[in-house]
Amino acid sequence: MKKSLLIGAAAVGVAAGAVAVRAGLRSGRRTETLPTPSPTEPVIEPGIDAQSFLDHLAEAVRIPTVVYAERERNDPADILAMHAFLRESYPLTHERCRVETVNDLSLLFTWEGTDADADPIVLMAHMDVVPVEPGTEDDWLVGAFEGKTVDGELWGRGTLDDKGPLIAVMEAVEHLASTGFTPERTVILAIGHDEEIGGAEGAANVAALLNERGVRPWFVIDEGGAVTDALPPLTTDPVALVKVAEKGYVDLELTATGEGGHSSFPPKQSTIGALAAAIQRLEAHPMPARIDVLRPFFAALAPRLDPRLRPILTNLGVTGPAVSRLLASKQETNVMMRTTTAVTMVSGGVKPNVLPQEASAVVNFRILPGDSIESVIEHVRNVVGDDIAVLPVGEMRGEPSRFSSTDSPAWKVLGTSIEETFPDAAVAPWILTGATDSRYYSDFAGDIYGFAPFTGEMDMLGAIHGTGERIRTSDAETAVSFFCRLIRNAQPDA
Ligand SMILES: [Zn+2]
Repeated sequence: MKKSLLIGAAAVGVAAGAVAVRAGLRSGRRTETLPTPSPTEPVIEPGIDAQSFLDHLAEAVRIPTVVYAERERNDPADILAMHAFLRESYPLTHERCRVETVNDLSLLFTWEGTDADADPIVLMAHMDVVPVEPGTEDDWLVGAFEGKTVDGELWGRGTLDDKGPLIAVMEAVEHLASTGFTPERTVILAIGHDEEIGGAEGAANVAALLNERGVRPWFVIDEGGAVTDALPPLTTDPVALVKVAEKGYVDLELTATGEGGHSSFPPKQSTIGALAAAIQRLEAHPMPARIDVLRPFFAALAPRLDPRLRPILTNLGVTGPAVSRLLASKQETNVMMRTTTAVTMVSGGVKPNVLPQEASAVVNFRILPGDSIESVIEHVRNVVGDDIAVLPVGEMRGEPSRFSSTDSPAWKVLGTSIEETFPDAAVAPWILTGATDSRYYSDFAGDIYGFAPFTGEMDMLGAIHGTGERIRTSDAETAVSFFCRLIRNAQPDA
């Protein structure tokens, strides 16, 4: 998963201006009293071996499946060691499922269901991890690839992203198989090997293969969500953030061209000056904010929202413009509701006394669902004017995902499984600002969600890709149980 858990900071932004927005609400407006959910005991699959999960995850962390953007640096031996480890650790899974390697390094498990008419479900994970940033190794309490537990927390690169979910899924399938469970609905495990560098060799090929075979997944569950202990100041209750959409990505190159020549006879505006002016206009005119995309999120949280914030955040019809202005004023919240503009590279000129004939800049856009690469290009052309050429560049390019339903039978299965496992948590749909492997399924799968059954404070969940990535050992049983419940709840007769 690309690092993108910004919601903690975002929530702070909401509170900061809540009072101001509140003043804008029409007085005398009645707010509904919503029932407070009553806590119940989690539903746990009997017979789960939590220690087995922890031991296997620690072992998986010790296989340093680090990937770098420069693919020639990546050693396939690490990924192959992970294949061998999974084969040894999950014999029943390997016996009951058809196991295929795709493009040599990704894994595809198919646990054939007895009901050929039931569309399969796809559970995704990835074996690769990001490197530890050089120079930060000593900031870890224990080594990032030691797989050690300290004070009830299992540390290591990949514990959350994405070996924790991977091992939880494997343990769940192994457990279900050991109880004699046979699925009616086919269960597919799609395990990538290069998600952190875009998934072009792994998940892209796995998805293409499934599509080619005519597989039409009922739903897909990938990374992109987790359970926060609380979301201050919105709520003190735990919140299960479920990814229902992902932002898209495009890099645009802006180029100004001119006469060039000697610097002793400069024109009124140089190519660099024209480029700079275009960049300035672009930063002053971002793509429009769309507070509406946050409506389902606030609605889902409504029963748990701080009562002072509830009328503001659940009446966006009235408060929308004010809330929107407020969120736009803070970097952390701004990114949640608009396509972002980031000028990342600039070049032009080779000598102090020569006017360059060309000056160019690269601008990175993260595209909110509802916008598109085309609408971004059109917007940029309008803003910078005809004298600046605008062209998409680079390999990385992708449309934002569609929104998966929060009202479908698939959502019900996922929501029920989360509620059973984390009965105290509110289930809230969320837009991921990064991209994950599941985007490769968007053309042929039903609903695509992101959720990992691990808990933490926002800081802890935010350690993905950073220093101190770890999980709570107390999550072991629930993590495995969650996937057991999900597979059971997804059966046609469940
Ligand atoms: Zn990931």
